[in-house]
Amino acid sequence: MCHPLNDTIVAPATSQGNSAIAVVRLSGKQAINICDKVFQGKDLKKQQTHTIHYGTIVDGNKIIDEVLVSIFKEPKSYTKENLIEISCHGSAFIVTQIIKLLIRQGARPAQPGEFTKRAFLNGQYDLAQAEAVADLITSDSEAAHQAAMNQMRGGFSAEIKQLREKLIHFASLIELELDFGEEDVEFANRKELKLLVKGLQNVIQPLINSFDLGNVIKDGVPIVIAGKPNVGKSTLLNALLNEEKAIVSKIPGTTRDYIEDRINIDGISFRFTDTAGLRKAKDKIEAIGVERTHQKMNQASLIIYIFDVNDTSPENLKEELKKLNTYLPAPVHTGGPGGRAGSVSAQTGQTGRQAGNIPYLIAGNKIDKCNEQTISSFKKLIPGDIIGTPLPYEIIFIAALKNQNIDKLKKKLLEMVNAKTIKTANTVVTNIRHYDSLVQTRDALNKVLDGIETGKTGDIIALDIRNGLHYLGEITGEITTEDLLENIFSKFCIGK
Ligand code: GDP
Repeated sequence: MCHPLNDTIVAPATSQGNSAIAVVRLSGKQAINICDKVFQGKDLKKQQTHTIHYGTIVDGNKIIDEVLVSIFKEPKSYTKENLIEISCHGSAFIVTQIIKLLIRQGARPAQPGEFTKRAFLNGQYDLAQAEAVADLITSDSEAAHQAAMNQMRGGFSAEIKQLREKLIHFASLIELELDFGEEDVEFANRKELKLLVKGLQNVIQPLINSFDLGNVIKDGVPIVIAGKPNVGKSTLLNALLNEEKAIVSKIPGTTRDYIEDRINIDGISFRFTDTAGLRKAKDKIEAIGVERTHQKMNQASLIIYIFDVNDTSPENLKEELKKLNTYLPAPVHTGGPGGRAGSVSAQTGQTGRQAGNIPYLIAGNKIDKCNEQTISSFKKLIPGDIIGTPLPYEIIFIAALKNQNIDKLKKKLLEMVNAKTIKTANTVVTNIRHYDSLVQTRDALNKVLDGIETGKTGDIIALDIRNGLHYLGEITGEITTEDLLENIFSKFCIGK
């Protein structure tokens, strides 16, 4: 819904439920006046910007709460409008009463994301920065936080803007040529234009490539824990959870065939899928579960294959891993035998994934119940033996129930998913909308290059440049439609 910017909006800025403090936000021309009508203590209209005032919110003679009111006068506020934050006691009842009161005095309930939308429309942020605000709120790991913070503070926006300006310059030169019609003039030096377009592609392509990494930063590195029933998959997941004490969410699979847990390990968010077990399906429903297990395995960045050292012989293990291999696409061999799975990148399988590059981390579990000899028998296996491919491997021996060697397993895990790259990634694209626009820009620029090389006329080249400019502009919001904004901000929470 399209609302004018000249009204005053109100919403709770903190989540529902009981808490020590809750904050109600008001933004718009009349924010200070409206709040002043229900505030007793001081005349808010006479106060300076960036000041806090103690008083009561009253409904006639009735005191609703004792509060602190913060005043931010335009343009020095989040929305660049007059903005009031009322810090009250954290009761949903009090918050509702205050909001109702403010609505009676002329405010209107805010739409989801409307404060940030105003921040964008009033020039506080560009669109990519405004979107990063939502990412920042939902960030649940150091890496996700860093990527969102980086984007909110400018990220690749500045770079995109600079490139756009250079392209606009060329577009106008070419369009000037068009004004001269039949005359053979060339204001836009084709060589220079070619250099600029290539320069642009050198910036755009790495951003496009960074989306795989951006995805895992935002959504978590997908890891599948696979193995036969009762080998200790759930126990391992719990051991990892207990170590970190940071379970973020438990997402039941749609058909109860797998469970996803988000776990923060060393600043990186992991999405662990505990699979339904790799047994032969006995019925139709179980068959769906097994099928989904295979799907999940194919989308994983890494598979932890866990087996019980006590009821598995090295020969059995070889067989099991061979079977596991048949569920995956054919491996593309990138390193020699005995090398590490160093080619593994933390990818989600959504884009650009090379089939077969899913590495295994093999965990021999329940070593608390076995002797050294058993462990040595597995150590004698050689890579080719194990999975029938030259992919490198290493078995980590653990006792999930006793928390034994879990730190070792975690260390290996971080190493194999290139944790360093994830954590030090600077400018990464985490938003599918930006990714799409970048791909469209690249395609348009390819056409520009092609146009120059094949000697196309200025009007055609100009059209392709304009197309590229359009897609670049969509990222930062120079080009928007009400539908696009609605689509973006409706996904925000109310009060943001
Ligand atoms: P899942 O079916 O693969 O998820 O296996 P569970 O995690 O449910 O474990 C099956 C059984 O093995 C449970 O009774 C666990 O307590 C036990 N278990 C798991 N890990 C270990 C371990 O390291 N040592 C011992 N002794 N038992 C374990």
